[in-house]
Amino acid sequence: MSLLPPQITKTIEEFSKLPGIGPKSAERLTFHLLRSSKASPEALGSSLSELKNELKYCKTCQMVSLQEECSICADTSRDHSTILVVENPLDVVAFEKTSYKGVYHVLHGVLSPIDGMGPEQLKLKELIDRCQSEKIKEVIVATNPDVEGEATASYISDQLKNKIETVSRLAHGLPMGADIEFADQVTLKQSLEGRRSL
Ligand code: ZN
Repeated sequence: MSLLPPQITKTIEEFSKLPGIGPKSAERLTFHLLRSSKASPEALGSSLSELKNELKYCKTCQMVSLQEECSICADTSRDHSTILVVENPLDVVAFEKTSYKGVYHVLHGVLSPIDGMGPEQLKLKELIDRCQSEKIKEVIVATNPDVEGEATASYISDQLKNKIETVSRLAHGLPMGADIEFADQVTLKQSLEGRRSL
């Protein structure tokens, strides 16, 4: 029999299910919650259950929302014929700091067979349906410039090519301060292809 009470082993087990949390970190987090005067297990518990119970995905763009439709989709002053496709809700927050005035579509992940992420696990069908039922002029794919992001972008482009006017991809390249020596192939290829005249 374990020396630890089941409440502790159960909490460790739940923490271990989270991405990037190994058994050691799960133990550390559990005992931290137990000891710490600052961290409140009650507050953590209630925000976690609110997270699951009260939040919805916007029926149009799949952004997290308290309403059926998010505030961006409900905003009639935005350009609803341009959709920026992103991997997760935080990307929407990032693009909202730019001057982008179109709407979004959140995939909630990228294609990654190794992690069991196929097209059915993403909000891809919703995107395709949306492009068929609404008047969409352009879909800009803004998945991350990595192997999974690229695979997802070409999948989307294949699926939408004949359905809408333009499918584009954000220009990517070497970030400022990057070292060519250490850049991966995908980045280098993109920086070459995306070259512009000086
Ligand atoms: Zn929305």
